[in-house]
Amino acid sequence: MGKTWIIPKDAIQPTINKEAYIEDKIYQDEKSQTVLIVGGGISGVFAAIRIKEKHPSFKVSIFEKNNKLLRKIYATGNGRCNFANQGILTKKYTNEDFVLPIIQEFSYAHIVRYFDKLGIKYKSVNDLLYPMSDSAETVALMLNKKVEELKLEIHLEESVIDYTAGHLITNKGMYHYDHLIIAAGGKAAPQFGSDGSIFNILIKHGYSLVEARPSLCPIKVKENVNLIEGIRAKARVSLIVDGKQKHIEDGELLFKKNGLSGIVIFNISHFINAEKNSKLVQICIDFAPDCGKIEKDQYVQYLHPRLASYLVRNNLDIHRTVYTFKGLFDFLNAQVTSGGVSINEVNSNLSSFRENKVCFIGEVIDVDGVCGGFNIMWALASAEKVSNNLFAYGKESTRT
Ligand SMILES: Cc1cc2nc3c(=O)[nH]c(=O)nc-3n(C[C@H](O)[C@H](O)[C@H](O)COP(=O)(O)OP(=O)(O)OC[C@H]3O[C@@H](n4cnc5c(N)ncnc54)[C@H](O)[C@@H]3O)c2cc1C
Repeated sequence: MGKTWIIPKDAIQPTINKEAYIEDKIYQDEKSQTVLIVGGGISGVFAAIRIKEKHPSFKVSIFEKNNKLLRKIYATGNGRCNFANQGILTKKYTNEDFVLPIIQEFSYAHIVRYFDKLGIKYKSVNDLLYPMSDSAETVALMLNKKVEELKLEIHLEESVIDYTAGHLITNKGMYHYDHLIIAAGGKAAPQFGSDGSIFNILIKHGYSLVEARPSLCPIKVKENVNLIEGIRAKARVSLIVDGKQKHIEDGELLFKKNGLSGIVIFNISHFINAEKNSKLVQICIDFAPDCGKIEKDQYVQYLHPRLASYLVRNNLDIHRTVYTFKGLFDFLNAQVTSGGVSINEVNSNLSSFRENKVCFIGEVIDVDGVCGGFNIMWALASAEKVSNNLFAYGKESTRT
């Protein structure tokens, strides 16, 4: 209001950088233990680094089916890697009550501080944090450097096909473990390795999974938008479910063959996934939210001429163009997976209730966030959580 920011009472306050304390205890473990990690994405690599730093006598290995670690990271944030967000955390994640305590323990401020130690300087664009270099490659490079420095054992081009209590089975062999960390991601963007193969293994082990659906993806609409394919517009977009407004957001929209795309639509896809049993899902677009009434013959003064004439020809209102949701684009077009290992399968330390010495981190769990760095932030925070609680696994742990 005026020059004063009004912060909602229930808003979770971002931690101030200088107060962010990083757990840097080094344990003199009496007995070396073997920690095997399934998946060399950001959650698996970060967990490996942090565990080895805290427990130098442990043998830590990563099994990755790709021919290099962190394959997906290079593609994130349009090649710039938006690795965290310093804004308010409420209404950004599914299963928020489960996620937020973990993220608050290792917040954006901790990430920035730790990344700085690795040599990744940051910059913020509004609340979104990026490497100063504007290159995702910097993040991958510095994490890989740390992996080498710590002499972690990396098994590339090795797919995990199953595990038993105490042994991991891959297409190349069988390996003993004391602790198994499953960081295999979900089904989104299978071109980077996360093809959901881990879910078939976990079903065999009796885990209950929440149905995996594409999220942060374009959406298909029933109406024909092909004539305006490729046109972008700044708009206010509302998600209407069975007649009720569920979400509203301003941002850039992109018309696509058979559907809508753009960051604002990606976020809408996240909220659509939360509405599992709804009958009618609509997307209502106001192309000129800050303007009053606009006559049809003036649309061209506000919009791309092709979009303006499309609205006029189809008798659509510049302030209220409504599309009917038909479906989500597929996993190839999605940035994250909605669904995965149910949060009821793990305790607050992310260790399995079902199997001793097994835990889950990152996107493989039924946690997904909106655009803006929230998903990598979850991957890092969940990895840190597990690295802090390596002895709290299994049946003796209870949900707190
Ligand atoms: C194009 C794109 C842009 C994105 N941009 C951003 C962004 O800017 N900010 C943000 O916060 N999030 C972004 N995301 C989402 C973010 O990248 C993911 O949420 C995050 O990388 C998940 O990390 P993860 O380690 O849990 O899983 P993943 O990164 O998916 O890693 C899992 C790894 O496990 C491996 N694996 C799977 N199964 C097996 C198996 N059976 N055996 C061996 N290895 C296996 C896979 O090959 C993969 O390397 C983006 C995603 C995409 C696709």
